[in-house]
Amino acid sequence: MRIENDPKLDFRDVLIRPKRSTLGSRSEVDVHRSFHFAHTGREWSGFPLIAANMDVVGTMAMARALLKHGAMVALHKHYSADELIAFFKEPGSANAFYSLGTTDSDHDKLKAVHAKAPIDKICLDVANGYTEKFVDTVKATRDAFPNAAIMAGNVVTGDMTEALILAGADIVKVGIGPGSVCTTRKMTGVGYPQLSAIIECSDAAHGLKGLVCGDGGLTVPGDVAKAYGGGSDFVMMGGMLAGHDECEGEIRYEERDGEKMPVAMVFYGMSSDTAMNKYSGGVAKYRASEGKTVEVPYRGPVEGTMQEIMGGVRSAMTYIGAVRLKEMSKRTTFIMVGAQLNTVFG
Ligand code: 5GP
Repeated sequence: MRIENDPKLDFRDVLIRPKRSTLGSRSEVDVHRSFHFAHTGREWSGFPLIAANMDVVGTMAMARALLKHGAMVALHKHYSADELIAFFKEPGSANAFYSLGTTDSDHDKLKAVHAKAPIDKICLDVANGYTEKFVDTVKATRDAFPNAAIMAGNVVTGDMTEALILAGADIVKVGIGPGSVCTTRKMTGVGYPQLSAIIECSDAAHGLKGLVCGDGGLTVPGDVAKAYGGGSDFVMMGGMLAGHDECEGEIRYEERDGEKMPVAMVFYGMSSDTAMNKYSGGVAKYRASEGKTVEVPYRGPVEGTMQEIMGGVRSAMTYIGAVRLKEMSKRTTFIMVGAQLNTVFG
């Protein structure tokens, strides 16, 4: 047994220190980034935010809504091949990742869809990216799809980030246990504070010209700014995008002044009882559920939330004098804090 004594940080442990700058207003900053994918030589530009491949967030409707902002969606794994073929034939599907796991049937389905509607962004997603089998899957997918951008995860340490990039990933997805509906840390005791995971994995990835996507644990726009400040190239979020019209979730209505009003929406982890009952006929005996099911307030179209997130990031950039999002990590100094929010009004 070993104990590491370096402090490891979460978003709530830090604030970003403001810096002098000549920037006058948040309208002068540019939240877009351009990336070069290491294995394909292809370029991507946009607002580097990805809706998680969870089945009430990673929807086709979400992809259409986020396109306008240059943001992306990792589609959930439960669309049929026909639905995916029809979607990927649409010109507006360019911001969507096709998500899959490591099973043969996942890969057969990807090949069948790709034969009819070419896929150029693939998200290889497993809860634990530390297995040999996963590294082999990344290699095999890279060989089969030499021109596709491949995002693979999840891991939380530099050594495994490097292994996945060397195996063929362009983007490594970082995060074990930080998610809003994740119970991995409770069930297994395994995890890594998310901001430190981002800082360490992005440092490892950038040395190999790879990219990272900080996945999970973002609760407010300030956390998104901290993720970018810590070196995350992309961020992925589930909970912050839940409860919107574009989520294909179950809505709960209440009667208010004689009118039926939407008040809440169901949101659940992809390895929760809810998801496993829906897709795999129940929780397998050898594993425990590692996700929860919650109700989130109904929030209307995702447009308002996107404005809020992008506005928060722009404002953070103004405070530290970053004209472009790319400069953010260079201009970020984190200060460790004991408390950061005034909670007097809840
Ligand atoms: P959030 O933005 O809601 O905090 O986190 C979203 C991320 O949580 C997803 O992208 C995925 O990595 C993770 N996640 C989603 N469902 C589950 C689950 O059932 N169990 C665990 N351990 N993680 C989940």
